[in-house]
Amino acid sequence: MDNKKMAQLLFPNIDKSPLYYEELYPKRNLPEGAKVTRLGPSPTGFIHLGNLFGAITDERLAHLSQGVFFLRIEDTDQKREVEGAVDVVINTLRYFGVEFDEGALSDGEKGDYGPYRQRQRAEIYQTFAKSLVERGLAYPCFCTEEELSAMREKQTELKENFGYYGKWAVHRNITFEEAQKNIQEGKSFVLRFRAPEPSGKTFTVKDAIRGELTMPENEQDVVLLKSDGIPTYHFAHVVDDHLMRTTHVVRGEEWLATLPIHVQLFDTMGWEKPIYCHTAQLMKIDNGVKRKLSKRKDPELSLDYYKSEGYLPGAVWEYLMTVLNSNYEQWRMENPDADVKQFNFTAEKMGISGSLFDIDKLNDVSKNYLATLDSQTVYDYITAWAKECDEEYYELLTRDKEFSLGMIAIGRGGEKPRKDISHWKQSKEFYSFFFEELFRREDDYPQNVSPEDRKLILQKYMESYDHSDDQSTWFSKVRAIGEELGYAPQPKLYKKNPESYKGHVGDVSGVIRVAITGRTNSPDIWCIQQVLGKERSMIRIQKAYDEN
Ligand code: GLU
Repeated sequence: MDNKKMAQLLFPNIDKSPLYYEELYPKRNLPEGAKVTRLGPSPTGFIHLGNLFGAITDERLAHLSQGVFFLRIEDTDQKREVEGAVDVVINTLRYFGVEFDEGALSDGEKGDYGPYRQRQRAEIYQTFAKSLVERGLAYPCFCTEEELSAMREKQTELKENFGYYGKWAVHRNITFEEAQKNIQEGKSFVLRFRAPEPSGKTFTVKDAIRGELTMPENEQDVVLLKSDGIPTYHFAHVVDDHLMRTTHVVRGEEWLATLPIHVQLFDTMGWEKPIYCHTAQLMKIDNGVKRKLSKRKDPELSLDYYKSEGYLPGAVWEYLMTVLNSNYEQWRMENPDADVKQFNFTAEKMGISGSLFDIDKLNDVSKNYLATLDSQTVYDYITAWAKECDEEYYELLTRDKEFSLGMIAIGRGGEKPRKDISHWKQSKEFYSFFFEELFRREDDYPQNVSPEDRKLILQKYMESYDHSDDQSTWFSKVRAIGEELGYAPQPKLYKKNPESYKGHVGDVSGVIRVAITGRTNSPDIWCIQQVLGKERSMIRIQKAYDEN
């Protein structure tokens, strides 16, 4: 059969040659070893943790090697497209400190390897598709949905493999005349790849994360172009990553199953394959069971979650790095003050089985991270977040800046800084007792102290309180109040002789703590009182006294 005639029939408007595009998109002029990576999100408006995982991996691989990281919008599925979705990708990733060097912009694009939106590349795909038809390696398939599902039923009945291959590939040998007639009758077609005859052979390919993979060769005549002339993921990936000169394809492990198709397509085209990096699925432990993160069940899958909860991008990076690279924690211990970008991130140190995402661990890492920041920095971050996400908190924080700074400064700095805050939303809960509007008694008074003693402690405390006492004078007074009422001046004395005392000084200060903060656990009471001021502190003590 005359393949050229068939190609012309199917693509009458395509007049460029593959060579034209090869020359238009020459090999990139980059230093030896530079990696070219890309993020290829579908513009669904939903950008999730998996995207950030991929994006950080891409960004690090590219930028640590003086390479290029670009954004390609994979919009071949128009049904899923949402307006403004490109903005969401760019802005969300920017919030997390991930910037693209080239590719789609919210309005237009930058770079020499575009267009960077797949729908705008239809002519490019069709040019390469046409050349495959000319080589006898692709053909039109006119099967209807009904015919395909009937075929599937038959395959089920006969217990044969599903799909369009070998003897099941009914249009594989379609003649020019048949194709022409169908087209004249207005029948639509998809373009299928003519896979090599089933051979049962395997091939090997190296994955930078997983090592050498051995897989069965593809036998399916997969669809390259859908009936609207827009490519499937398989064909778009191969053409784009070749012409955009991608060196490393970082993508989720869900693509492993179709890797044989991609490898076969690259080989058929005679193109050098990129290095694949199939990342592990993000998993979480739910009721003791490891499962994939789900959009419906897990709000933490969405990146908006971190923004709206007020997680600091630096803290999220810090955590994700521990999940992404197995040697990161060790490096961080050895380099506590180094910028994360100095870490030698490699694909080889990525995990191959489900990466466990644990929000509690994120909170811990984040607490450590935020503990290293100074008060002014924290104040700036919290107020910026609150301004956008929590008006009430913003008002409270900004009505007396010195007060807020004092509050934030408690336990900050020094050898062992406190690690109370994991994210800004949680900081509101944590700091709530500083603000009359939010203050409430959350915990009970210490059990060892009777209601009568509580009142006595509070009364004596008010009588002896001097706001100018330093921390140790203040504490001696608390101890003295306790001793007077029969509480051991040191917990260990009480532990030795519990029958000699009602309790110990910790119980006494516990009463004051609950009165001042509403909690049994809080930072240093003396420090809190210094920030609250004498008047407010005494009002709280008085109020607790009245309530008891
Ligand atoms: N559009 C694909 C996805 O969202 C991209 C996969 C790839 O990076 O190759 O999963």
